[in-house]
Amino acid sequence: MSESRTIWSFNGGLHLDDHKSESNGRPIVDLPIPAILTVPLQQHIGQSAEPIVQVGDGVKKGQMIARAIDFVSAAVHAPTSGTVTAIEHRPIPHPSGLSDTCIVITADGEDRWDELPEPMTDYTSYSTADLRERIRWAGIVGMGGAAFPTAVKVNTSGQRPIDTLIINAAECEPYITCDDRLMRDQSADIVDGIAILQHITGARECLIGIEDNKPEAAQALRAAIAERGAANIDVVVVPTLYPSGGEKQLIQLLTGQEVPSQGLPSSIGVLCQNVATSAAVADAVLRGRPLISRIVTVTGRGAQNPGNYRVAIGTPAAFVVEQSGGYSSDVDRLILGGPMMGFALHSDEVPVTKAANCLLAAAKAEVPGPRDAARPCIRCGECARVCPAQLLPQQLYWYARSRDLDKVQDYHLFDCIECGCCAYVCPSHIPLVHYYRFAKTEIWTQERDRERSDIARRRHEARQARLERLEQERKARLRQKKEALEKKSTDAKDDPKKAAIAAAMKRVADKKAAQSATAEQTPEE
Ligand code: SF4
Ligand code: SF4
Repeated sequence: MSESRTIWSFNGGLHLDDHKSESNGRPIVDLPIPAILTVPLQQHIGQSAEPIVQVGDGVKKGQMIARAIDFVSAAVHAPTSGTVTAIEHRPIPHPSGLSDTCIVITADGEDRWDELPEPMTDYTSYSTADLRERIRWAGIVGMGGAAFPTAVKVNTSGQRPIDTLIINAAECEPYITCDDRLMRDQSADIVDGIAILQHITGARECLIGIEDNKPEAAQALRAAIAERGAANIDVVVVPTLYPSGGEKQLIQLLTGQEVPSQGLPSSIGVLCQNVATSAAVADAVLRGRPLISRIVTVTGRGAQNPGNYRVAIGTPAAFVVEQSGGYSSDVDRLILGGPMMGFALHSDEVPVTKAANCLLAAAKAEVPGPRDAARPCIRCGECARVCPAQLLPQQLYWYARSRDLDKVQDYHLFDCIECGCCAYVCPSHIPLVHYYRFAKTEIWTQERDRERSDIARRRHEARQARLERLEQERKARLRQKKEALEKKSTDAKDDPKKAAIAAAMKRVADKKAAQSATAEQTPEE
């Protein structure tokens, strides 16, 4: 533990059995590349990437196959060399079993690298914009689970200056050990990435927050920091308490500062990044390599051989489990993520994505939370006592259940980090987090619908205005024509020559009229 530093606390939280020892004991193992990789275009928060290859194209490892098309978006690269054999909807890892567009690559078995950009070894000689562009090119996203595009997160221009970079090494969910193992096996990469992130953001100090159940990892980081002489990076050990790895909770533990409700850490001069993200930044900047693989923990009583494995993005989950040693007879379901925040996969054929930190092959008894039928709320208040976001989960539940979407927002639904503490302690086994996720999805859907109908309304109003303008222009043209004709006839009256001609013509017309009148009065023969 950092001796001079005060460790603060946050509200609530739970002491859980950490189940780390099942998978953290052996070094990271590289898994082979499967014959077919399915690479989703949407592996991050924001806009899906746009394919820049076609079916039939040959690709090389590390080649960009889909580009970021918006500010909040992330590029996607080929995890190995081969041929694009499909670009189509395939099931992706999602709680509802959704499908989405994926680029399917049939591997050629050669694993040949594409030509990569020059390493930016002397990174301090590059502008921060160039370094951000490299991170954007590499398609790096937050690898702690949130998957927010890193190039956007480190773009702090126009905001309050960043004083403190916080590296999230807490890894507080039970069972997950991929960050622990990365810290032990690749601590130098993590420290290099931190130095680059500090250079980009201008953060004067960096605090690495790590739970006290990972002493080897903390030691490995300290050794790497000492080797690089990085005096402004401090490893701060915090007590093991779930969810100390929540971004706001970790910031509070390390700085004593609270991020405002619905605010960003940058509003208090803090930027938070995960350890694996930091290593990915080092890989992109110092080696010119995009994010095409990640460490995945395979664990649980349903897995024969728990451990941590480096897996190419797009590898089917079933292949990962099989290569790690396969399922045991205890397996009940396969969960992506940990037992608290993860979700059961509908199929183990879905691919590993950039945010996939754990495949928990869980036996029945291993997954906490409501497994029995929910009973009525008894208003015991236990859920509020453990909520790290200081919310009133019971009230949120009532309003989410009755679809009162204004009220759930009044009760700060969007401050809920979906940690699952409330559902874990609820004696009535109410699946509280499901209600919150449902309410959030409803609100997002309504907002999207509202945006769409706003666009449609604006289009309709623009069309009406255009038609009205055309009608006004038509009327103006008619008016001008009439006025021109009237002016012409007035001009004719005023001009004596024209007037004489007009008088002569009138006389001729009058005479003709008189003659025809006389003819009509003569009796018929
Ligand atoms: S813990 Fe469950 S039963 Fe108790 S108040 Fe909260 S929702 Fe109701
Ligand atoms: S899931 Fe949300 S409401 Fe429940 S304890 Fe966690 S932050 Fe609080």
